[in-house]
Amino acid sequence: MTLRTGPDARPSPPPPDPRPPTAPASFHVLAKPSGPICNLDCSYCFFLEKEALYPGDRFRMPDDVLAAYIRQTIEAETAPEVTIAWQGGEPTLMGVDFFRRAVALAEAHARPGQRLHHTIQTNGTLLTDEWCALFAEHRFLVGLSVDGPAHLHDTYRVDKRGEATFAKVRRGWDLLQRHGVDTNILCTVHAANQAYPLEVYRFLRDDLGARHLQFIPIVERVDDTGVPDDADVTDRSVDPVAWGTFLTTVFDEWVTRDVGTVFVQMFDAALAAWLGLPASMCIFAETCGNALALEHNGDLYSCDHFVEPEHLLGNIMTTHMVELVASSQQRAFGAAKRDTLPHYCLECEVRFACHGECPKNRIRRTPTGEPGLNYLCAGYRAFFGHVDGPMRLMADRLRGGGYADEVMATLRDAPRNEPCPCGSGRKAKHCHAR
Ligand code: SF4
Ligand code: SF4
Repeated sequence: MTLRTGPDARPSPPPPDPRPPTAPASFHVLAKPSGPICNLDCSYCFFLEKEALYPGDRFRMPDDVLAAYIRQTIEAETAPEVTIAWQGGEPTLMGVDFFRRAVALAEAHARPGQRLHHTIQTNGTLLTDEWCALFAEHRFLVGLSVDGPAHLHDTYRVDKRGEATFAKVRRGWDLLQRHGVDTNILCTVHAANQAYPLEVYRFLRDDLGARHLQFIPIVERVDDTGVPDDADVTDRSVDPVAWGTFLTTVFDEWVTRDVGTVFVQMFDAALAAWLGLPASMCIFAETCGNALALEHNGDLYSCDHFVEPEHLLGNIMTTHMVELVASSQQRAFGAAKRDTLPHYCLECEVRFACHGECPKNRIRRTPTGEPGLNYLCAGYRAFFGHVDGPMRLMADRLRGGGYADEVMATLRDAPRNEPCPCGSGRKAKHCHAR
């Protein structure tokens, strides 16, 4: 490994001593080594417009920023597990050697007893045996973007010529599997696939054989109203009710046959809420502010969804990232998630699980006209209400020393003419024992 250093390489600041008291014990930084630059041109991508933030820039993370990111991340982490996370744009545009240098730097800086986790989110179209061998050797968790089978995936996930990408993504997935790489599918839900929850889920589970899934709603604002709380959304955005139906439909399939073998991030997050555990996804936490985004040049932003001038905290080449995370600006950003909740949410029976979801989606008004209601509210109310019974069953099993997957037999094998144990009020044969 040769790290390009030289007269132009800049030193970056040491960690503050003492550690700022407002610094969280753990936080997460998503680094974007090629900024928003991508080899694809997905219609719904919100990163591409971010090029305007850095006019004329080549969007390539230099080695001194790479070194600062790795060292400061490791210095900032108080837990024994350290995650080095990469995203884009498309991070594989940086080339394999960039990531070899990243891994070597992390290994050189890790303190005794610290365990390193490398993660990367990719569209998968540029993967080769060389990439997959690197991922396998260093146990990268690779997130691959797939929106379902080809006819759904290719609606919006196209290349710069507007051509379909599914075949290349499938090739990338097969390569990852051949090398035994740990994978996670990131499936966005939007107008084109929202009506096909089972087709999407079964494709990911059965055709791809994926075992870790994330469903992400596409909400694309169109700020043509001039009023932030009345922003419109594009036709590609998922419909709020369809989002709820998508989640509940997948949930019903999962809860009767896949608990413990297929891991759906949203369902795990819901179970954590029903168990009274801390939120496992920032969007469902009461406050946030511990998931930041690092641009290629060292600029640190409050969140990947707020890479905007007013949410720029500073640059890690001049201020250590732990100081930026601990800053009053960032703490206020995180607290605002709780402090700006409308009364409608404060009185909501599923607030303990939802917490108004992500502030970026709070672009609607409540029935009484209060601003700040989440665009997806109808979907989340339906979903969290729907899963209440099965979640209680799973949480009870776990609290009693059993296993969550016992819920599958409880629901499937219930007497068909008796009320379904999920509490829906329907006969089991018309509910989960179908
Ligand atoms: S703004 Fe949204 S995505 Fe960003 S940290 Fe907060 S909840 Fe998470
Ligand atoms: S379901 Fe709707 S009302 Fe309830 S907390 Fe979530 S966004 Fe607020």
